Amino acid sequence: MTAHPVSSDGQEDLNPFHIAAQQADRAASYVRRLPPGMIDLLKRPIRTVTVEFPIEMADGGVRTFTGYRVLHSNVRGPGKGGIRYHPDVTVDEVRALASWMTWKCAVIDVPFGGAKGGVTCNPKELNEADLRKITRRYISELGELIGPHTDIPAPDMYTNAQTMAWIYDTYAMMHPGRNNLPVVTGKPLDLGGSHGRHEATALGCLYAVQRALARDVVKGLRTLEGARVAIQGFGNAGALAAQLFRDAGAVIIAVSDSTGGAVKEDGLDVYAVSAHKEKTGSVVGAAGTRTITNAELLTLECDILLPSALENQIRRDNAESVRARFIAEPANGPTTPAADRILFGRGIPVLPDILANSGGVCVSYFEWVQNIENEQWDLEGVRQRLRVKMERAVDAVLDKQSQINGRRGVEPVDLRTAALVLAIERVANVALERGIWP
Ligand code: NAD
Repeated sequence: MTAHPVSSDGQEDLNPFHIAAQQADRAASYVRRLPPGMIDLLKRPIRTVTVEFPIEMADGGVRTFTGYRVLHSNVRGPGKGGIRYHPDVTVDEVRALASWMTWKCAVIDVPFGGAKGGVTCNPKELNEADLRKITRRYISELGELIGPHTDIPAPDMYTNAQTMAWIYDTYAMMHPGRNNLPVVTGKPLDLGGSHGRHEATALGCLYAVQRALARDVVKGLRTLEGARVAIQGFGNAGALAAQLFRDAGAVIIAVSDSTGGAVKEDGLDVYAVSAHKEKTGSVVGAAGTRTITNAELLTLECDILLPSALENQIRRDNAESVRARFIAEPANGPTTPAADRILFGRGIPVLPDILANSGGVCVSYFEWVQNIENEQWDLEGVRQRLRVKMERAVDAVLDKQSQINGRRGVEPVDLRTAALVLAIERVANVALERGIWP
């Protein structure tokens, strides 16, 4: 498998799986004592499954949907990764997301491998009954491929705690008479969910940003007090980040969703914008705000930019126009390798997805442990544990970057490459300890 930084027509190659491979190859060149061929093993998914399944729609017609589940690695533990419902889901997107999960679980140091799933569908055109049928049928088609000790799903774009409840229920019907709660995380609180899971991705990102700032990653910006923040995406990751960053002293100057963005230079009323979205389905047009496009939001002058929606938002063609001093990635894969190089050259640090949004899988791990122990931890305990894990992971990545960049004669690395080097080392170590079977 080779990486393709540029497609044959000279355009930037935006295939997420090619991007993931390219990132891993670059990082592997900094890993010491990696046996020949090991990176090829580590970057290929060990299993890719496609399922095609019918659903009877409300009008009596039948529609066939395509779903995927990719297990990228089970070296460090069972596969772990969300399920996405989106019209643009492709097998290569799911493969990329699964590989980023492997590296993320290694960086945040939870005993999971990486996995991901997706169904190509447009949730905005489906009602609740359709979504329930899609979920149940998709999970039943996956059969024994998921399980509490093999591959454990979670929420991602356009799936939520309700979707996870249907997943649990379907799996539990297929496996009566045992504790099935650890088969899926992100469940409702009264169905084995964990306190703090709902906001875990955003809260983890907040803790990571605070730690990075305190360690001087951005010159002259040591805390969030008064920091001007722009956020693309207003779902689980983005909307909760808006609230939590604001509560931590930041000024949220812009937010957006799939319909466009809203900006207010002296600070948005985040709760009013949420109420407006609740009422109208969009952040656009919230009282006292000016309407902007998603593209404009990415190039606003601000201290911190939080891309919290989709992949490939900051690319070769707009990275020069970014005017943020610091970027942290609640979304997976929002910055392309070409953009990474441009941003690094311009001195704009990027706290990468596999670190910045790892709070989600971290609290998913806490939920899994609670389910196995038949326990429920209190919110404060979850938050404290999350903060410790996030700070430790930020420190490990910053230290890895200093260590690599202190070597003589090597090209300096950005934080993404440092995080990937750390992750590859951790996964490779365990692979070698276990030995290549047989
Ligand atoms: P979500 O479904 O809750 O929200 C998605 C948001 O993105 C919505 O506000 C939607 O309007 C917006 N959006 C969709 N298309 C857009 C576009 N073209 N431009 C701008 N905004 C657009 O999803 P989420 O869980 O918040 O996931 C967002 C990102 O965070 C994804 O990359 C996901 O992989 C990542 N992530 C989520 C979690 C989690 O626990 N939910 C964990 C780690 C990473």
